[in-house]
Amino acid sequence: MLKIDLHIHTIASGHAQSTILEYIERAKKLKMKTIGIADHGPGDFEALVSEIYFKTLERIPRKVGNIRVLKGIEANIIDAQGNIDISEKLVERLDYVMANFHAETSYKNKGIKENTKATINAIRSGKIDIITHPFATERFPIDIGKISDEACKNNVLLEINLSYFFGNKIKDSTVPNAKLMIDIARKHSKKIIIGSDAHNIWELGDDSAFMKKFKKMLGLTNNLIINNYPRELFKLLKINE
Ligand SMILES: [Zn+2]
Ligand SMILES: [Zn+2]
Repeated sequence: MLKIDLHIHTIASGHAQSTILEYIERAKKLKMKTIGIADHGPGDFEALVSEIYFKTLERIPRKVGNIRVLKGIEANIIDAQGNIDISEKLVERLDYVMANFHAETSYKNKGIKENTKATINAIRSGKIDIITHPFATERFPIDIGKISDEACKNNVLLEINLSYFFGNKIKDSTVPNAKLMIDIARKHSKKIIIGSDAHNIWELGDDSAFMKKFKKMLGLTNNLIINNYPRELFKLLKINE
């Protein structure tokens, strides 16, 4: 079980089924320490919410019982300049910003060269803390080696997204891409982050099947996983404890 899971979608994403309160109660039951709400940005056609939803997240207590509740977003890269679908002001107000391409937005696949350039620009913008599922290159091909290198150099976390390892989301490229990403992070002495991409409470923090099947295959070791090091993660996200 992950101690910290920052990749959680609520009903506000339009295609997820649980509420913030339900996630908090589930996290309590699972003895997790920190969860992060990260609904899809307003550029996602399915999202039910606009920027104001994300702004008002700060009115939710930072801690509910023993559970720390961080407020974030899974934003969308929307152009070749690496811009994302939220304002600079919102970037500053949220605890953390995750981003990548998503099919249900105005950005359509522009080929590996352009997609890589857009992602590198997003990484260099200083607005993004985590690149979600970078190893999933099926819909938006990118140069995973270059992206991983650039993310490490700019202190942007690379995500192992659990939802991409099962069902029809796992592709021939998933394991080799993820392994390359992890190898590059190790080379730079950087950690990666694991996110569940939960769309309902039963997916929250559950890394058991992934750990059993893929951890060894990917050469992933506990010392590389920043979810195991809350202090280091909070420092990186500039969150006061
Ligand atoms: Zn995503
Ligand atoms: Zn997601």
